[in-house]
Amino acid sequence: MNTDIAVVGGGASGLCAAIEAKKFCPAADVSIIEKLPKCGKKIIATGNGKCNLSNVNLSSEKYHGSVNAMNIINNAPDCYEFFTKNLGILCVEGSEGRQGGLYPSSNSSSTVLNALRLKIQELGINEICGFDVNSFRQIKNGFALYSSNDQIFCRKLIIAAGGYAGTSFGTDGSVLRILKDMGYKISRISPAVAPLRVSQNQLKGLKGVRAKGSISAVHKGRILRTEKGEIQFNENNISGVCVFNLAYLFRDYENLVLSADIMPHMTENELADYLFCIRRIRRNYPLEEFLTGLFVKNMSVYIVKNVLGKSPESKISSLSDNDIKILSYRIKELEFNVTGCSSWQNAQATYGGIHADCINSKLESLLHKGLYFCGEILDTVGDCGGYNLQFAWSSGITAGRNCGISLKGDYYDKNK
Ligand SMILES: Cc1cc2nc3c(=O)[nH]c(=O)nc-3n(C[C@H](O)[C@H](O)[C@H](O)COP(=O)(O)OP(=O)(O)OC[C@H]3O[C@@H](n4cnc5c(N)ncnc54)[C@H](O)[C@@H]3O)c2cc1C
Repeated sequence: MNTDIAVVGGGASGLCAAIEAKKFCPAADVSIIEKLPKCGKKIIATGNGKCNLSNVNLSSEKYHGSVNAMNIINNAPDCYEFFTKNLGILCVEGSEGRQGGLYPSSNSSSTVLNALRLKIQELGINEICGFDVNSFRQIKNGFALYSSNDQIFCRKLIIAAGGYAGTSFGTDGSVLRILKDMGYKISRISPAVAPLRVSQNQLKGLKGVRAKGSISAVHKGRILRTEKGEIQFNENNISGVCVFNLAYLFRDYENLVLSADIMPHMTENELADYLFCIRRIRRNYPLEEFLTGLFVKNMSVYIVKNVLGKSPESKISSLSDNDIKILSYRIKELEFNVTGCSSWQNAQATYGGIHADCINSKLESLLHKGLYFCGEILDTVGDCGGYNLQFAWSSGITAGRNCGISLKGDYYDKNK
């Protein structure tokens, strides 16, 4: 089969790239090549089915990696321009939890996918599903893409095949491996926007506990980053949006420690004064009741056992002044040694990818002319809260536009 522009990957960035390529070169035959039976499976799962598609607080601190995400975002149309004016999707700020997150007013991710598909139909873009690209090469006047039993020839190629995260959505890093073999510089890959694993021993008794507070990633005593929010303790990992935003640090720092402040409303001294007071009031009760009213039962018992090493049955009156000082210090710095990041299956994004050294500002490859990249396959990852989808849309638009413009230029040159 022949097509003018092939877009490998029918996810967020690929769908936008195809739309923009066709808009900027209407005469071109544009085809999306997707290995799953349908395009956009991951879009449906985003934001717990609500699609946190962007954020009002876009800034460079929210992105990590060699590719300058904000440059790309700032040079592409904003949400209102692309979604509302272009696709008819009204975007509103989400009411619960995630600060500044933008969602479709329908609160449903399927409406975003439906609107993208309507545009694709309207523009006459082909969707070729069930085609798993397992290799490709540059040929005279374009590229040849191969699956195990088929091939497609195109004049320009956009690669939007995502990274490794969310393996059930078709993303297993296969295209990144192909590109590595072709000589592309790929920055070290690690799961991001994901829970962090902690030894089961350190979490004993905390499974299912949730605490509001702040959590810091600490390396050799230096705080690398602090995030606020709900901290969720599980059997062998700690999760919650605040932890998701620290996960990318695991790639570059060995022996990372998570330090949780689960009493953010009080300073250490205020907490100590309060605990002295409680010791007086509850002196005849067992230690397991000491922190009742501050934390849920499991957390209270955990702290008494793990911080003081005392039996929860012993009397509150047995606490020394020093015990209380230690408690108030440790409640504000509960430490957990990170042993790993979660599996790719449970990660929402990929840290690492095609290095900035391999592309120009049009997102065209510096190794193969006529080949463009967009989305998560590039070496940039955003925080949780709409930042990754925003990068996918913006980079898709950028790659699609530049690819369409360049093909239009080729037509013009041919007919001159
Ligand atoms: C559960 C979950 C929830 C998320 N929620 C949010 C959220 O609310 N907000 C946010 O900003 N981000 C969220 N993300 C992250 C966000 O979805 C991704 O960063 C974004 O979708 C990346 O878009 P992409 O187009 O680069 O890649 P993808 O959306 O991953 O699409 C890549 C496509 O390429 C196809 N493909 C891969 N290899 C091949 C091949 N060899 N041949 C043919 N096709 C191939 C895949 O099947 C896939 O359809 C979430 C991620 C997950 C997993």
